[in-house]
Amino acid sequence: MTDRIIPLLDERVVAIHPPLARDLEAPDGLLADRLGRPLRDLRISVTDRCNFRCTYCMPKEVFDPDYRFLPHADLLSFEQITRLARIFIEHGVEKIRLTGGEPLLRRNLERLVEMLARLTTRDGRPLDLTLTTNGSILGRKARSLVEAGLRRVTVSLDALDDAVFKRMNDVDFPVTDVLEGIEAAAAAGLAPIKVNMVVKRGVNDREIVPLARHFKGSGHILRFIEFMDVGSTNGWKMDDVVPSAEVVARLDAAFGVRALDANYSGEVAERWGYADGSGEIGVISSVTRAFCSDCTRARLSTEGKLYLCLFAQQGYDLRELVRGGASDGQLSTVIGRIWRARADRYSEIRSEATVREKKIEMSYIGG
Ligand code: SAM
Ligand code: SF4
Ligand code: SF4
Repeated sequence: MTDRIIPLLDERVVAIHPPLARDLEAPDGLLADRLGRPLRDLRISVTDRCNFRCTYCMPKEVFDPDYRFLPHADLLSFEQITRLARIFIEHGVEKIRLTGGEPLLRRNLERLVEMLARLTTRDGRPLDLTLTTNGSILGRKARSLVEAGLRRVTVSLDALDDAVFKRMNDVDFPVTDVLEGIEAAAAAGLAPIKVNMVVKRGVNDREIVPLARHFKGSGHILRFIEFMDVGSTNGWKMDDVVPSAEVVARLDAAFGVRALDANYSGEVAERWGYADGSGEIGVISSVTRAFCSDCTRARLSTEGKLYLCLFAQQGYDLRELVRGGASDGQLSTVIGRIWRARADRYSEIRSEATVREKKIEMSYIGG
């Protein structure tokens, strides 16, 4: 029998091994990268596993029953995640998003939420702690997550039509269960909920208006995300992207919409409101309007690698430093140096050639 070739493994094992610092630098919260961008957001992937096989993220042909997910021994423990989160906060992080894979599949996730919810920002404010989920088990988990200290949640939902949704999640998962999860989360105190729809031309773009109609007036905020060339398994083509401008035009024709001011400078989603005042929607134009100049996000993978961009090809192995006994000061100095050297701006330089490069997978690093 010949060994199966698993193309994704390469990207996951390629790691940069940052040297331990001798002379320590105290974090002052003023860290900036080479393009002047501060470090404000940390996305933490807590598992690379998922119960869905969304065709644009974990196509079944690659993520099949033989696919080798990370073994449990490789994962950062909740204590290690919390320790690193605290160090990132000292550098200026104010918002943490838990993601995956499907984060609610990580056992006892509530315990991690509880540990992170206790952390405060440098100036003593509560951390903005949130989570992105496919909603499949949110109905069961919402109350315990709120009790653990979660305040916000984003649910991914790509269609209202059951047949379209099942085709996209590719595991026959019914849309009603996700809708119930959203309502359970709202009832548990997580409202207003952001609902993210990835739009792929010819696959679910006819769901734009029905989904908008469903959430219009509900208080929840539906956001449309351009299909991106993350990873190297989803067969991305520019023709599959529905530009946000087209999404807005379709919504305008159906309901009438007008532009709203950004909540804060550098906000990723462009905000739109229904002309009749019945709520808000957002568009995230990751492909047609790059927002790299405002990108303040770092990403920590399930096994402790630090990535500086969603489209990165290599991560910095922090786990080996953590497991090797590095002190907080040493870790903080290393993280500060890595961020200061950052110059990533993939979406601004995307080209035919970069699209073909091998990159880490979305299900590995999280959205
Ligand atoms: N499993 C969770 C979920 O689906 O919400 C969290 C992880 S998932 C990787 C995070 C987000 O990335 C989801 O909203 C998903 O739709 C989005 N996503 C995955 N692949 C994408 C792609 N190629 N382009 C745009 N968004 C993508
Ligand atoms: Fe799973 Fe989320 Fe990827 Fe879908 S988008 S396969 S739910 S990780
Ligand atoms: Fe940030 Fe990279 Fe996305 Fe640009 S392409 S916004 S640098 S994650």
